[in-house]
Amino acid sequence: MHRAFTAAGCQQHQPPFAAPERPARLEAVLGGASDAGWPVEDSPAHALSASAVARLHAPRYVERFERAIERGDGLLDSADNPLSKGTLEAARAAVDVCLTAADWVATGERRKAFAAVRPPGHHAERDVAMGFCYFANVALAAEQLVGEHSCERVAIFDFDVHHGNGTQHLFEKRRDIFFASVHQYPFYPGTGSAAERGSGDGIGRTLNVPLPAGTDDWALREAVEGTVLPALRDFRPEVLLVSAGFDGWENDPLGGWKLSEEAYAWMGRELAALADDLCGGRMLSVLEGGYSLAGLRLLTRRYLEAR
Ligand SMILES: [Zn+2]
Repeated sequence: MHRAFTAAGCQQHQPPFAAPERPARLEAVLGGASDAGWPVEDSPAHALSASAVARLHAPRYVERFERAIERGDGLLDSADNPLSKGTLEAARAAVDVCLTAADWVATGERRKAFAAVRPPGHHAERDVAMGFCYFANVALAAEQLVGEHSCERVAIFDFDVHHGNGTQHLFEKRRDIFFASVHQYPFYPGTGSAAERGSGDGIGRTLNVPLPAGTDDWALREAVEGTVLPALRDFRPEVLLVSAGFDGWENDPLGGWKLSEEAYAWMGRELAALADDLCGGRMLSVLEGGYSLAGLRLLTRRYLEAR
């Protein structure tokens, strides 16, 4: 079974200028999910989303976000995080969708879900908005699986061209959540060297595979096949989460990689097969970046085709 989840509220984040992270992205992604034959379901508000956000984000950060919206501020924390009247509503809707999708995946066998959300989440820190991200969507889905569905081991693989600093920092001391990332390096946001492997109890539960600008399909495949997939197999997750960013594509306006659409089709197949092997088929992919509208539609379709 496979299903895409989204919410109309995600489109209430309307940056007031020609920002790369814009509502048309989500329309393109939903088009790609439909092209791939995935049913798309509108997620209701999730009853636990406020308490879920509070599990990983500082209360003072949520209050600061609320106050900034009430005051009509134009930015939160950084120039990459513009605010519109509906930005907080959209960030909450993205969390609702991720929690609903996590619940759905956790409560059956062979369930593959795709959370088509914006704003994205993997750069959001416990108390700072950055990199177009406000709340830590994929991390909140992982926490939902641990806290509400008694999962003991959850893995997150992040293939966005940018390092998922927020996801890593939220879980780097934990043994129950494994975070693996391939990303362009050195590049925004500056984190993600191979030496970052977790800390305290979480040593060895963070895996960074930095790859240079110009990385092509073969170099990506070597890194994923040679390093990431074996590490995921060793960890034996009960659910596989994926931070699916499509900005490593050769024509993406922000990323510096040279991946073709075949790289995304290949990752879709490999990750689905791994989830079938290790996780009873349970897999949830969450949209992160990707800034070419044509690319988002095409790459979402190619990534979701294998299921
Ligand atoms: Zn990105």
